[in-house]
Amino acid sequence: MSAKTLEYNATVVYKQLLTPTLAIFRVKKDTPWTTFIPGQYAILGLNHPEKGGVMRAYSIASAPYTHPDYLEFYIRYVNEPTSDNPLTHLLFKVNDGDRIMARDKIQGKFTVKDTVGDEDPRLKVFVASGTGLAPFTSMVFEYAHNNGGKHGNFAIFHGASYPSDLGYVEELESLMNSGAAKYYLPTVSRPGEAGNWKGLVGRVESHFEPTKLPGAEQLLGLGDGGFNPKNVVVLICGLQGTIANTIISLLKRGFVPGDRKLRRVLGIPEEVPGSIFYEQYDTTPIIDPNNAALVASCIEALKQAGVPLAEPAGA
Ligand SMILES: Cc1cc2nc3c(=O)[nH]c(=O)nc-3n(C[C@H](O)[C@H](O)[C@H](O)COP(=O)(O)OP(=O)(O)OC[C@H]3O[C@@H](n4cnc5c(N)ncnc54)[C@H](O)[C@@H]3O)c2cc1C
Repeated sequence: MSAKTLEYNATVVYKQLLTPTLAIFRVKKDTPWTTFIPGQYAILGLNHPEKGGVMRAYSIASAPYTHPDYLEFYIRYVNEPTSDNPLTHLLFKVNDGDRIMARDKIQGKFTVKDTVGDEDPRLKVFVASGTGLAPFTSMVFEYAHNNGGKHGNFAIFHGASYPSDLGYVEELESLMNSGAAKYYLPTVSRPGEAGNWKGLVGRVESHFEPTKLPGAEQLLGLGDGGFNPKNVVVLICGLQGTIANTIISLLKRGFVPGDRKLRRVLGIPEEVPGSIFYEQYDTTPIIDPNNAALVASCIEALKQAGVPLAEPAGA
């Protein structure tokens, strides 16, 4: 039986293919969305002629100041989807002027306000893999708009396979790397043989491993050992591998996950504040509670870093 047909209430007003499998879409709703906070997401949907309607969540890449004209989305075509009616396979056939479904409600708590709080003075390090960049462009573009073009106390690490897979490079480079320290740090795992890639090399999460973290500290203008929760809070967005590996590396520095489930598994008491937060695009558990060896090593890392722990409940 096919899923219910969706009623279209919005128009794709702009589509830019960065590569055949990576695109920026701007969507304008017939009745404008109420405003939103950078870091939130919208629900978009399309109808397959036989299989019916399909909806998915997409982080808003644009800043609220462009609202209500349009919302912008940064979307990857998924080559190996898990559903039998993948939305990205319909979406990438859509062109300027085509109709689409967009839910009225904008949702999500992956905002500065709902994670560390708007008044937190620490450097906010954003870690993004692929289209996981979207919530962070919204945050930095909005901040710059409201603060005379300044990029704020934010740093972005953005990882992709190839240089051509990095969206928003010019905008972020000109906004964030104007002073001595680097606050926009693109990194690619396959820089290619041409040798003209000048950025970091390796998966984005690799820069938080013990051997590479001192290099990141230097680029960010933090002293040796300065990448710690006294100075820094971390927000990560993307797929499970990036999120899990970044968190696992940073537990050793005393970073405490804000996610409730993860805190229960690791026995982190209520009163210990979170300093590392994430938005996940897939559904694989970040740290499998049944993987006793992994859970034990995470707990040990937190203990070594001096984080007070209760007895873990879910291991
Ligand atoms: C809160 C939230 C915000 C999201 N924001 C974005 C966004 O801004 N841009 C975006 O491209 N996707 C985003 N996603 C993922 C999106 O909702 C869909 O899961 C994705 O587009 C695949 O949908 P599909 O129907 O084509 O494939 P499905 O058949 O649903 O296949 C799902 C599988 O695709 C893979 N996948 C999902 N997202 C990605 C991705 N971005 N890159 C590579 N592989 C992926 C995962 O392995 C996942 O298990 C977000 C997800 C959530 C929960």
